[in-house]
Amino acid sequence: MDGVLRDVSFAFVYLDDILVASHSAKEHIQHLQQLFKLLSTNGLVINKTTCVFGAKELDFLGHHVSSTGITPLPDWISALQESKSPTDRTSLQRFLGMVNYYHRFLHGIAATLAPLHTQASGKGQKIDWSKECQEAFDKTKEMLSKAVLLHHPLSGAVTSLTVDASNTAIGGQLEQRHGRLWVPLAFFSRKLSEAEQKYSAFDRELLASYAAVKHFRHFLEVLPTSWTHSIFNKIHSLSHTGVKPTQKAIAQRFVWNGMKRDIRRWCKECPDCQASKVHRHTRSPLVERQPPSDRFCSLHVDLVGPLPESHGMTYLLAIIDRFTRWPEAIPLPDAHASPTVADNLPPTSGVS
Ligand SMILES: [Zn+2]
Repeated sequence: MDGVLRDVSFAFVYLDDILVASHSAKEHIQHLQQLFKLLSTNGLVINKTTCVFGAKELDFLGHHVSSTGITPLPDWISALQESKSPTDRTSLQRFLGMVNYYHRFLHGIAATLAPLHTQASGKGQKIDWSKECQEAFDKTKEMLSKAVLLHHPLSGAVTSLTVDASNTAIGGQLEQRHGRLWVPLAFFSRKLSEAEQKYSAFDRELLASYAAVKHFRHFLEVLPTSWTHSIFNKIHSLSHTGVKPTQKAIAQRFVWNGMKRDIRRWCKECPDCQASKVHRHTRSPLVERQPPSDRFCSLHVDLVGPLPESHGMTYLLAIIDRFTRWPEAIPLPDAHASPTVADNLPPTSGVS
């Protein structure tokens, strides 16, 4: 199923469940027709009695999905809130696993969970359930009760990513402006490793920016079009490298839709690259030479060598008169000796 519907943008598949999301009832019917055709072509059959068609909102994989957005299922949240304080490592890990499922609904949850994660990562079943752990456990349950509605992203809406860093965790908040309101799309947070906790405040902030951008990369991969060309100019003009090195250098820092295509085109259009381009297959046009009309009016001159030494000489200056075909070969000690052609022509040539 996953393979059959991999390229279908409106269908989300989880094991044998399929969720089809459309903007309107009319579009929904078109989507369903395409889906049924695809399933039928691949010999897949669906059980009609377990399907819900044309629903405005539904529960799917522990989430309530509506046209407004997505929230955790209240039943699941209640179950978490009613859970008792863990007494061993397995029950603590189970609680953390459930909370982690709703991670993106909970702003800054990683910092709150830090003491619990420390306990969960040890060996054996015994845990040291301190006052700090109990406070973290209670605060997590309180945060779950306040889990916010996450809105569906709107293409083209202004998007903002805010990041923060504490001594123990980093986090990010992805929002979009829908009309006059800023609404949350998702939250990200994670605990800092021991080494990362030793970073300076500035470096922790920097790490938060890097990690959050990496986490939400799929949301953020649209740079304003007005920026992309100036980014290309800044990086490409450093050394005017070819298409591939320029693509690589820019991809290390930026990403936008159709990036490779844009860079290829701009490299080809770059005036400096055009001016210094090496044409490997330049062929000079054939030149038609008129036969000389008199002797010594046209000469072939060439330097031949190095040759085996003879009487201190290793080069020959060869001169051929094109009219009479008369050859002269003048021995030279090296290639830097500078006899002029006129010095070595026979006195009868009339050249001086
Ligand atoms: Zn260039």
